[in-house]
Amino acid sequence: MPEREIEFLIVGGGDAGFAAAQKLREEGADGSILVVSRDPDPPYDRTAVSKGFLGGEKSREDVLLGGADWFDENNVELLTRTSAMKLDPEAHTVTLSNKDVIRYGKLLLATGANIRRLRFEGCDLDGIHYLRALGNADSIRKDTENVENVVLVGGSYIATEVAATLTALGRKCTIVMQEDTTLERTFGKQAGGFFQKVLEEHGVEIHGGQDVERFEGEGRVAKVVTKAGLELPADTVIVGAGVTPDVMLASRAGLTIGERGGVCTNPHLQTSDPDIYAAGDIAEYESVVHGGERIRIEHWDVAENQGKAAALSMMGREDPYDTVPYFFSDLSDWTWMEYVGPAFGWSEEIVRGSIEEGEFTVWYLDGDRVAAALTVGRSDDLERARELIKSREPVDRKELAELP
Ligand SMILES: Cc1cc2nc3c(=O)[nH]c(=O)nc-3n(C[C@H](O)[C@H](O)[C@H](O)COP(=O)(O)OP(=O)(O)OC[C@H]3O[C@@H](n4cnc5c(N)ncnc54)[C@H](O)[C@@H]3O)c2cc1C
Repeated sequence: MPEREIEFLIVGGGDAGFAAAQKLREEGADGSILVVSRDPDPPYDRTAVSKGFLGGEKSREDVLLGGADWFDENNVELLTRTSAMKLDPEAHTVTLSNKDVIRYGKLLLATGANIRRLRFEGCDLDGIHYLRALGNADSIRKDTENVENVVLVGGSYIATEVAATLTALGRKCTIVMQEDTTLERTFGKQAGGFFQKVLEEHGVEIHGGQDVERFEGEGRVAKVVTKAGLELPADTVIVGAGVTPDVMLASRAGLTIGERGGVCTNPHLQTSDPDIYAAGDIAEYESVVHGGERIRIEHWDVAENQGKAAALSMMGREDPYDTVPYFFSDLSDWTWMEYVGPAFGWSEEIVRGSIEEGEFTVWYLDGDRVAAALTVGRSDDLERARELIKSREPVDRKELAELP
C-alpha cells in the first residue's frame, strides 16, 4: 500500500476544514497540508445552499471558499470524492478510499454532520429530498421547477429558509412541523411567532403541532399524512429534521465521544489523542464561554472559528477557542436574524424594541444572567450581548429593555 507523510492532515472539506487550512498558511505553517473530502465539490459556503444557491442568485463558483484557485495558490493539496476510511492513532495513519495510507504529524477531524433521515411508510418515494450539499440543492431546484405543492417537514431554520427561498421563486409552500410555532425550539414562541407571521404574510401555509405519519403516492410522493389525520397534497417534499455528528471515523478509532454525540475536545480543540483535533459540527468542546460546560453547536461561525483555533493549536499555540457562538439566518429578503448564545433552556425573555414592528432584541436569561440574544434589525446589540454572555455576571433587567 502506498504510504505518504503529511504534516497537517485535515479530514473534511467543509467550513471548519477549509478555515483550518487557510489559518495554517496565514500563520506561516510551511509544512505539507492535505485536505481530504468526500464531497464532489471543493469547500464551499454551506449556508448559501438553502439561500442564494438554491434561489439561483449564486453560482457554484460564487460560493467556493477562498475562490477557485485558493488551493493551488497556497500549495495545499485537496482530494475531493475521497473518504477517510480508517484512522489508526497509534500508527498516526489514515487510510483513504483510494487506498493511500497517510502518515500524519497532526490530524484535524472536521467531518461535519449527516442529515437525520425519516423512517416511516413512504419515505423511499420519489420526490422526497433532504438538504445538506450543493448537489441536494441542484436536485430540489430541478424537481420543483414545474410542481404545484411543495411540503416542508420541520419547523427549524432549514425548513423555514427553504420555504422562503422557494416561495420567492413562485412555488406554493406548506410547512408541517411538530412545534406549535416555527423556530420556537431555538428562539421561543414570541420571536418564533414573528418569523411565522412573516412566512404566512408571504403565502407560506403552516401547520404546527403535527407529527407526520406517512407519505403516500405511487412511485412519486403525492400526499403527506399526519398522525392527527391532516392530509396535505405534495408534489415534492423537503425534510429538515436535524443532523447527527459524523463521528464514525473517530469512534472506531477509540477517541472519546461525548453525551451530545460529538468528539470530545478540550478548549484547544484537542481530542483524547494529543495529536488529533476536532472542529465544527462534530466537536463537543469544553467551552470557556460557558463556564467549562461541554457543548456542541452546528453553526457556520463556530465551524469557521474552531477551524482557525484548531490550526493554531496544531501549530503549538496556547490560545483556547473562546468566541461566543454566532448564528444568522434569513428568510429570503423578507427578514434577517442574528443570534449569539446559545441558550440551552432559559427562564425568562426580555424584549427590547418591538416584535410587532420587526425591530427587536430578545435577551434570554438563565436565572440572572444573559445566556443568549436574538436580534432582528438591531445588530448593534450583539456586541453588548457578547460581553454579557461572556461575563456571566447578574444583569439589570431594566437596562436590558432600555439600552440606548
Ligand atoms: C443548508 C444549510 C444551511 C445552513 N445555514 C446556516 C446559516 O444560515 N447560519 C449558520 O450559522 N449555519 C448554517 N448552517 C450550518 C453550517 O453550515 C454548519 O454548521 C457548518 O457548515 C459545519 O461545518 P463543518 O466543517 O463542521 O461540517 P461540513 O460543512 O458538513 O463539512 C464536513 C465535510 O466533511 C466531509 N467528510 C465527512 N466524513 C468524511 C470522511 N470520512 N472522509 C472525508 N471527508 C469526509 C464531508 O464531505 C464535508 O466535506 C447551514 C447548514 C445547512 C446544511
